[in-house]
Amino acid sequence: MARGLPFRIGFGYDVHRLVPGRPLVLGGVRIPHPTGLLGHSDADVLVHALADALLGAAGLGDIGRHFPDSDPRYKDMAGFDLLVQVVEMVNGRGWVLGNADLTLVAEAPKVAPFIGAMTEELAVACRSTPERINVKATTTEGLGPAGRGEGMAAYAVALIVPAG
Ligand SMILES: [Zn+2]
Repeated sequence: MARGLPFRIGFGYDVHRLVPGRPLVLGGVRIPHPTGLLGHSDADVLVHALADALLGAAGLGDIGRHFPDSDPRYKDMAGFDLLVQVVEMVNGRGWVLGNADLTLVAEAPKVAPFIGAMTEELAVACRSTPERINVKATTTEGLGPAGRGEGMAAYAVALIVPAG
């Protein structure tokens, strides 16, 4: 339902701690690294930020509301599958993705070689095309928790437009 607006915008932010013995999955892509993100399911911080941006744009709250970590049904749910469900909700309200822009904040590893694959994965989950999704990464120059390698953060903005 467009509700009189030609588009809507949403913002998402997420942080997860990095720990040994966990796989590192970012934007739906498994990345070789000695540590991985700790949290519910695969703790895909990039996907979680984008999902929150999409829910925010559609006025549907946040992923904590739809996928509470207290609910065992979501324990092993991949971030990719969570995003697919969020996109279904957003589409169900009559909206599709216009475009999204994401920033990963991580000191290591270098994710540049994986950004193409992440963009493709996110486009599939969003029922969109890679040209509409931009993924970038930055460090914090060694400062703060992300700079010390204690965790990763992600920011996302998403524009949604009426379907059709
Ligand atoms: Zn998260």
